[in-house]
Amino acid sequence: MIKRSTGLYEEFSRKEGTASRATHYCAGCGHGIILKLISEAMADLDIQDDAVFIGPVGCATFCYYYFDCGHISAPHGRASAVATGISRVLPDKPIIAYQGDGDLGAIGFNNAFQAANRGDNFALFFVNNALYAMTGGQMAPTTLAGQVTTTTPFGRDVVKTGYPLKVCEVFETLEAPVFIERVSVADTKRIMQAKKAIRKALEIQKEKKGFAFVEILSPCPNNMRVDPVKAAEAFTEIMEKTFPLGNFRDNSEKDIPMPADVPLKTASEITGGGREGITTKNDPSFKEKKFKFSGFGGQGVLSLGLVVAEAAVSDGRYVSWMPSYGPEQRGGSASCSVIVGGKEIGSPTIDDPDVLVAMNQPSLERFAPSVKEGGTLLYEASVKSGMEFPKGVRVIPFPASAIASENGVPKASNTAFLGAMTALGLLPFGDGNVIDALAESFSPNPKLIEPNKKVFEAARKWVSDNKQ
Ligand code: SF4
Repeated sequence: MIKRSTGLYEEFSRKEGTASRATHYCAGCGHGIILKLISEAMADLDIQDDAVFIGPVGCATFCYYYFDCGHISAPHGRASAVATGISRVLPDKPIIAYQGDGDLGAIGFNNAFQAANRGDNFALFFVNNALYAMTGGQMAPTTLAGQVTTTTPFGRDVVKTGYPLKVCEVFETLEAPVFIERVSVADTKRIMQAKKAIRKALEIQKEKKGFAFVEILSPCPNNMRVDPVKAAEAFTEIMEKTFPLGNFRDNSEKDIPMPADVPLKTASEITGGGREGITTKNDPSFKEKKFKFSGFGGQGVLSLGLVVAEAAVSDGRYVSWMPSYGPEQRGGSASCSVIVGGKEIGSPTIDDPDVLVAMNQPSLERFAPSVKEGGTLLYEASVKSGMEFPKGVRVIPFPASAIASENGVPKASNTAFLGAMTALGLLPFGDGNVIDALAESFSPNPKLIEPNKKVFEAARKWVSDNKQ
């Protein structure tokens, strides 16, 4: 097609006032040809309005300036992982991922490999130019034996750095991929074959038949330090000895069940809507509440969050609990995020908690600025930080460790904070749920239940005696 493909924008505008028909690729680069082939196939198959294109990091990172379709730019090596996610949330849309050999062959290999092994439902185009191009021509997993690159100035030594990675051959060992082919864009005859393979992969994707993989040998004259003609010749004469062209598999006409077609279920569908004997209430009017608990490892930060989460579950709420901790068992920082909602929770991460419990100085200083306006910050009173607290936040220094020690359980500061939270009305469920969850948390060691209840009550009393 010697005209603009309607799968591409009419003009490429990287900055305001710079619209033109020129791409950023070097003369003789294969990327421009591949983009044109994909865009023509998208337009011919009438999928571009629905298609989501997942771009990589590397020379092809600017695909979003060129393709006239939906676009997501993935972090380095992660285009396949992002495509997996998008193919699951948008199962009816054509999903196209595009990666280079550093991006897919090295950094993101496991993501692509596992997606292929699961038969995830997207088309993956893998551009192999035998080096890391964007960063200046370093050795990639696909670099040929003996090939000179900036990091292998004496040629790739396979004893030290391994053999060229043959991704088609690796994927061919897997059962799930529907289509695997290696093509080249080094000359016109090869471009015509590449066009067919690319089109086939997109047809498979249009019909949502599963994982289709096309590896495309693509000259990089810039890093090969030769002119485009010589680069193309080298690709036909040398590259194909290591990376033979051809179709490795085409199961697109066979009736093979696809692993990725198992319908996804929500958490509540799997659990039947909640714990045994507890029905999770779908209550969109309930105002979601976010809690962050933080301190040192060993202070019971994660357990405190778990008790709150368990109490919310027993009240029939949707709950997420997400811990975060360092590698140390004791003394490293630890925190957990708990969200209590009236409908399914989209993400367990919290940027702006309604309630922050900070049990030590580093966590106070780290998380205090994030507390939402109108929220509450409850922190260990023995911490001296001198920091300025955010405006519009209720700040309460609370002597949790003193209360726990005075009541004979020095390690129960977390229980003291729990008691304070109930007395301050910070938990959106009844005290009975909290006390039951607290007792349940000590069920492996029942002799700790009563001492902790004592700390819990002492903390409540402190709040009622010190109410301002
Ligand atoms: S460096 Fe190589 S791969 Fe990158 S745009 Fe230039 S020729 Fe293409």
